Amino acid sequence: MKIAFIGLGNMGGGMAANLVKAGHSVNAFDLAPEALARAKDNGCAPFTSVKEAVQGADAVVSMLPNGAIVNSVYSADVIGHAPQSALLLDCSTIDVATARTVGSAADAAGYAMVDAPVSGGIAAANGGTLTFMVGGSDDAFARAEPILSAMGKTVIHAGASGAGQAAKICNNMLLGASMVATCETFAMAEKLGLDLQTFYDISSKASGQNWSMTSYCPVPGVGPQTPADNGYQGGFATALMLKDLKLAMAAAKDAGADVPMGSRAEELYAKFAEAGNGGLDFSAIIKTL
Ligand code: NAD
Repeated sequence: MKIAFIGLGNMGGGMAANLVKAGHSVNAFDLAPEALARAKDNGCAPFTSVKEAVQGADAVVSMLPNGAIVNSVYSADVIGHAPQSALLLDCSTIDVATARTVGSAADAAGYAMVDAPVSGGIAAANGGTLTFMVGGSDDAFARAEPILSAMGKTVIHAGASGAGQAAKICNNMLLGASMVATCETFAMAEKLGLDLQTFYDISSKASGQNWSMTSYCPVPGVGPQTPADNGYQGGFATALMLKDLKLAMAAAKDAGADVPMGSRAEELYAKFAEAGNGGLDFSAIIKTL
């Protein structure tokens, strides 16, 4: 298959390389020359514009920073320039409203499109082990599934256009709130004189158990190996968690959903990022609690 790939940064770079490994011919475009050079080293064909990269493509995949960029790239350079038979897949994390707007514009122009945001970070993008949450019609999902499977281990149809983004931000709002709750709980356990490994052994087998504790423990030396054991480097950056929480707050407002825990998590992560910690793993928020 000939696939145009737009946005070859931290995530897109590894994803495009996995499409090449799966035997696809990948036309790459990124505004950053170094990202394009890396894509070329990984076997992609570099192009100097989106319009050229999408010529004759069977599918277009994008992995871009935000909704405004996704909207402008699709409306100016993809829709009307890629063949109408091309399947469009946006894997960026963006707001639900923009995902639906771009999906409708694609549909009106005769294209099939899915929103397919991912769970999993740079290591999963490089290793081809991402989870994709897909919004779009049954037919579009059936066409997207084999392409996404070359870049991930799990591909789930979440519902109609925008449902992939909705699932992603609901999941990440729960993750942000549960990480804060896990951090404050360990901080309190310490103040109450509990040995933290002992508390972990109890709570990880009791009703307080959750992913932020047992797969991503924010306390160094407790539980499995996590970014906490590496000075909170690597992992999932606070700035990206904050981005997802802001998207969740916007979606909650649009939908009229009352989200007091998600909203408090967003405030705490905003404060933590403003204090210069945006590059640290999101579990580092334990330092403030
Ligand atoms: P990144 O900044 O490393 O990569 C984005 C790339 O897009 C850059 O190389 C940039 O030059 C390029 N770009 C920007 N505007 C462009 C345009 N108009 N045309 C072509 N290229 C353009 O970001 P990333 O970490 O790869 O994240 C990409 C997306 O994946 C984001 O939506 C992010 O929220 C999501 N995401 C990231 C992670 C993570 O751990 N990094 C995890 C899950 C989801």
